[in-house]
Amino acid sequence: MLSGKLAVITGSNSGIGLGIAKELAKQGADVVINSFSDTPEDHAMAEKIATDFNVNARYIAADMSDAAQCRALIAQAGAVDILVNNAGIQYVAPIEDFPTETWDRIIAINMSSAFHTSAAAVVGMRERGWGRIVNIASAHGLTASPYKSAYVTAKHGVVGLTKTVALETAEDAITCNAICPGYVLTPLVEAQIPDTMEQYGMDRETVVRDVLLQRQPSKQFATTEQIGGTTAFLCSSAADQITGTTISVDGGWTAL
Ligand code: NAD
Repeated sequence: MLSGKLAVITGSNSGIGLGIAKELAKQGADVVINSFSDTPEDHAMAEKIATDFNVNARYIAADMSDAAQCRALIAQAGAVDILVNNAGIQYVAPIEDFPTETWDRIIAINMSSAFHTSAAAVVGMRERGWGRIVNIASAHGLTASPYKSAYVTAKHGVVGLTKTVALETAEDAITCNAICPGYVLTPLVEAQIPDTMEQYGMDRETVVRDVLLQRQPSKQFATTEQIGGTTAFLCSSAADQITGTTISVDGGWTAL
């Protein structure tokens, strides 16, 4: 379905980004894996995807907190047909204690990076007359939770950016949409479990069900494969007229 297309997935040596990279490769796309690190494991991951799915796969290191590196990633990747803005971090603290540098970092990685990569990628997409931009926002792009001021702000910003880019590219056979996952069990979420167990004096199972999945009516995590599949759908011709919108993959969270 996607053979001949080149996809860049930011923040894809782990979790949802890796799941998306694998799904797009499964559909025949060549993929660029990215993170800020540059380890032999990162490059081995790309090589494994190339072998497993018989596509071209490369790892390109670029720090998504840095505007110039965001734009350099797109330039280095080449003719980018599909851009998935996925890199993201989390930090939880009351607003009065939220460190300014952490606020700036979350805004840069979770939101501004999507501005820089999109700005760089739309030029070539227009020239070639086809493009897909998929922003991995969050249920927190549509709703809020306490203590996540920077994350919620950044994700709402990503949803706004999605609509704006969609309007600016609407006549160019480029679509821009946001996927809003509920909780997906990745290292980002796994890292929150021990602290929450300690904070509430709960076992792991209770934390998962009553804290993490409290707002997820299905009481199940979404999977990286499901987010990958939703991304692949948005890249298919069935989605040619889907642009400027959000797709929730949240087990009913935003229906509450
Ligand atoms: P993760 O920690 O497994 O992956 C985050 C990825 O971002 C990693 O590949 C990491 O290397 C990369 N990254 C972090 N800082 C970076 C930087 N400065 N430059 C380049 N890459 C960087 O987390 P995840 O759960 O897979 O999250 C991926 C995206 O999905 C994030 O944007 C997150 O906000 C979003 N999301 C996650 C969930 C969830 O429940 N896991 C829910 C909704 C949205």
